[in-house]
Amino acid sequence: MNIYGKTLNELENYFENLGEKKYKATQIYDWLYKKRVSSFDEMTNIKKDIIKKLKEDFVIEKPTIIKKLSGKDVYKYLFELTDGQKVEAVLMVHDYGKSLCISTQVGCNMGCAFCESGRLKKKRNLNTDEIVTQILLVEEDLNIRISHIVLMGIGEPFDNYENVMAFVNIVNCNKGIDIGARHITISTCGIVPKIKSFTKEKLQVNLAISLHAPNDELRSKLMKINKAYPLKEVIKAVKEYIEVTNRRVTFEYIMLKDINDSQKCAIQLASLLKGINCYVNLIPYNETSHIEFKKTKESSIMEFYDTLKKHKINVTVRREFGSEVKAACGQLRSNYEEGI
Ligand code: SAH
Repeated sequence: MNIYGKTLNELENYFENLGEKKYKATQIYDWLYKKRVSSFDEMTNIKKDIIKKLKEDFVIEKPTIIKKLSGKDVYKYLFELTDGQKVEAVLMVHDYGKSLCISTQVGCNMGCAFCESGRLKKKRNLNTDEIVTQILLVEEDLNIRISHIVLMGIGEPFDNYENVMAFVNIVNCNKGIDIGARHITISTCGIVPKIKSFTKEKLQVNLAISLHAPNDELRSKLMKINKAYPLKEVIKAVKEYIEVTNRRVTFEYIMLKDINDSQKCAIQLASLLKGINCYVNLIPYNETSHIEFKKTKESSIMEFYDTLKKHKINVTVRREFGSEVKAACGQLRSNYEEGI
């Protein structure tokens, strides 16, 4: 078991079961997440017999950085996991802080037509430690402190629900990595039962929904998850989430040329979201060499934006990062696997 996968509470229970004081867990967290040691032997305030026991029960392991690309305000990493699988993370430097986009699965089974991550099917879920250590590796490599986390890398976070929730607990813990819940965003393609479970967690974590179309006909063509959970159910679950948590939700909307970027779509979208405490994030499509979709030109994105504004929908256009470093979800990994 990799120790980076343990919540503070789990480690406290571990020590209690050993007949030890539970504050030992806080000391271990301090070594791992504040002092950033990479071996149990460096934990000098822990008794020798406990170190021995820890070594029997846990390993301290991180993936390896096998590729790193950088562009303006962006660093892209390809990691190799201990079983040889590969995932990506992207660090973006904003004026408000440094945001890391991380992966939650190796590949993805959601099969969205425009997305690179799903081209290579899901191999497996990431373990909690494999999600946590993406942050540690990038912080240590660049010698920085990451302020924001977005779960928008490879994979569907709600298809790996338990590990993602444990991840949130560890990252948010003030004895651990200590990133505020409001600085963490989970993005989902809309797995309704998991949106409902997430609502019950009553976390201050941000929820983003990948919408990408204002009606079922189009959404089902782009995202096969819509056949299982159509728009009406997604919107209902989101409204319940807002009611319970009082948190504003983000709807992501990729702008695909001649597919979902018409004025008619904008009006339909405004009417779908009317009265919901949300904002829409328009995403310029990151073109990939393998998928036939094209990006909407900037002036058309702005027309779409204006129409939403006119209908009193909060809307922003996402700043483009990293097309020069192949930052579209899953691109680095799929190109690597295919030897490009
Ligand atoms: N599975 C989750 C999170 C990962 S994808 C989800 O669907 O939300 C993160 C976001 O990037 C999603 O909104 C996804 O639709 C979008 N995305 C995927 N491929 C893209 C591309 N080539 N250009 C721009 N955004 C993309």
